[in-house]
Amino acid sequence: MTEEVLSLIRKLCDAQPLTEDEYAALIDGYSPESAALLAGEARKARARVYGDTVYLRGLIEISNICRNDCLYCGIRRSNRTCARYRLTPEEILRCTDEGYRLGFRTFVLQGGEDAFFTDEVLCPLIRQIKQAHPDCAVTLSLGERSMESYRRLKEAGADRYLLRHETADEAHYRLLHPPEMSWQHRMDCLRALRSLGYQVGCGFMVGSPGQTSRMLARDLRFIASFRPEMCGIGPFIPHHATPFRDEPAGSVALTCYLLSILRLTDPTMLLPATTALGTLQPDGRELGLLAGANVVMPNLSPTPVRSKYELYDNKICTGEESAQCHACLEARIASVGLRAVVSRGDVRRDTGEAAV
Ligand code: SAH
Repeated sequence: MTEEVLSLIRKLCDAQPLTEDEYAALIDGYSPESAALLAGEARKARARVYGDTVYLRGLIEISNICRNDCLYCGIRRSNRTCARYRLTPEEILRCTDEGYRLGFRTFVLQGGEDAFFTDEVLCPLIRQIKQAHPDCAVTLSLGERSMESYRRLKEAGADRYLLRHETADEAHYRLLHPPEMSWQHRMDCLRALRSLGYQVGCGFMVGSPGQTSRMLARDLRFIASFRPEMCGIGPFIPHHATPFRDEPAGSVALTCYLLSILRLTDPTMLLPATTALGTLQPDGRELGLLAGANVVMPNLSPTPVRSKYELYDNKICTGEESAQCHACLEARIASVGLRAVVSRGDVRRDTGEAAV
């Protein structure tokens, strides 16, 4: 590890903002030694805010029907080989009921941009979930919608919204998406969500085609200034029926390194150890937790549809029941000395006190 990298790590630990150039130098300075040092500091920073707790989110993949054609994604519109499905509101409610029994207090409704899920369908559904389980948070991850729609969903009771920005570099965004999608619009959506009072999650893939350390530095700068409550990052994994089928997957080690940098950039941020990490490497999510992540999202989708929500090849947990997924992840969390808790798991920004 060079003196320069060491001093950048010290600066991060002292909560001093890094410039884009400094983030780029830190990323280029990756080594097993700098990664271990950063991970140790990230764990300390997490402990100060969250103690040894890890938050669970029950993920319900409500539809794989999508009007978009993102070049990396297995459920893109042009993939004719994808067996499409959508859950009914009743099926979704059964998932949340089961999840509640298992101890989940946050439900994440994620899906493609499916025209079936209008505000008229979603608002009553969100109200029903909140009525049945008033102590739960509802998170949506349903892509780009109008400001008016985001407003209605918020009024219906949605608490949080996940919308990965995918890349903070506009030219890189164009490389990953069809011409009709725009980086500006994606960013406008994030700002709209923030102004409506949602707890907002953004995020990006690590190792997506065309990505450079400069672009990653731009992602980190964007996150440092936008200060989302949550940030989801995971390695890019190719899907066999997309234009990126022959591109190499991203790296677990670099994803973990970035998780540590994010934890130190904002110690209060909610950072999931993603399924994509666990897909590339059997202990990938444990490594994510050891690098500073504090959220895991076990799958609550009905088992028969799980393999159909195939964003990338070899996605794990597709053959399991929700209870199995829950138990498996609790054991993985315990194996790295942390504790899964039954709570909504809101961001801890109001106080500087450690979680109990
Ligand atoms: N339609 C919603 C949900 C998208 S799926 C939306 O637009 O937000 C959630 C995330 O999975 C995406 O934001 C993307 O970052 C990630 N993803 C998609 N394809 C992937 C792939 N091939 N490898 C890794 N992550 C992928």
